[in-house]
Amino acid sequence: MRLHHRIALVTGAARGIGEAIARALAAEGAMVWVTDLDADGARRVAASLPPGSAQAVALDVRDEVQWQQVVDQLLQHHGRLDVLVNNAGITGLEAGAAHDPEHASLSDWRAVHATNLDGVFLGCRQAIRAMRPQRRGAIINISSRSGMVGIPAAAAYASSKAAVRNHTKSVALYCAQHGLAIRCNSIHPAAILTPMWEPMLGQGDERATRMAALVRDTPLKRFGTPEEVAAVAVLLASDESAYMTGTEITVDGGLLAGSAATPQQ
Ligand code: NDP
Repeated sequence: MRLHHRIALVTGAARGIGEAIARALAAEGAMVWVTDLDADGARRVAASLPPGSAQAVALDVRDEVQWQQVVDQLLQHHGRLDVLVNNAGITGLEAGAAHDPEHASLSDWRAVHATNLDGVFLGCRQAIRAMRPQRRGAIINISSRSGMVGIPAAAAYASSKAAVRNHTKSVALYCAQHGLAIRCNSIHPAAILTPMWEPMLGQGDERATRMAALVRDTPLKRFGTPEEVAAVAVLLASDESAYMTGTEITVDGGLLAGSAATPQQ
């Protein structure tokens, strides 16, 4: 129970990695606010967690007023916030429009940044406000491998995730400058099998071919699981990582380690 009595809020927690993080935090003893654009999904996840360990709340991370209201509500209930996980994110590829640097529309570019970057900015700002009275806390931003390398077919996604990586460091340094033990770190997953992949994988033979190619390109030769990302979020939320701030951890099966690992006979 590494997070006994801690109060946590996770965004985009109705499914995928956010859901796994909410489950892992609750399993370590935290009281988790399960938030998502999808209010029914958030309720479903919260209802499946141990009684008294979760609260479902609708939160669109793009909306500053909603952020203010939800964090005020949380502070009224619990008196403090210990952990914020800024997980909500979109690729922008859901609607099938081109997202390469030549053809992406300005509105699609902005829509991706509104969720992935503005959402993280607003979350960090609210977390600093909420954590300031106890002068401590942990903010975890879910960036991506795509925040470290270019992705030609998903340029807005890559740009937004690179900005999340950098903003994490600004927040970490700002809090340290102000004598606050509010730590801010980023996690960089890749190839974690969640519903986010559906629009990119397609159906039937095409799906099988694309999945096989992804597995082939990953040194560990498999997709990662949401639980493997959640385990790192628990570490960054807990006091075990008390000396870690402004850092980045990849959870990518070795993709960013260098050249591909070819199986040896
Ligand atoms: P999913 O698409 O499976 O889940 C994302 C969740 O976020 C959904 O429930 C979605 O709700 C919600 N959401 C979308 N927009 C908003 C919003 N404006 N406000 C609140 N919630 C919102 O994604 P993953 O679990 O795969 O991804 C989680 C995070 O991990 C994202 O930031 C993603 O970029 C990152 N990541 C994922 C990787 C992967 O391989 N899966 C790799 C690298 C990074 P709804 O269904 O209603 O849209």
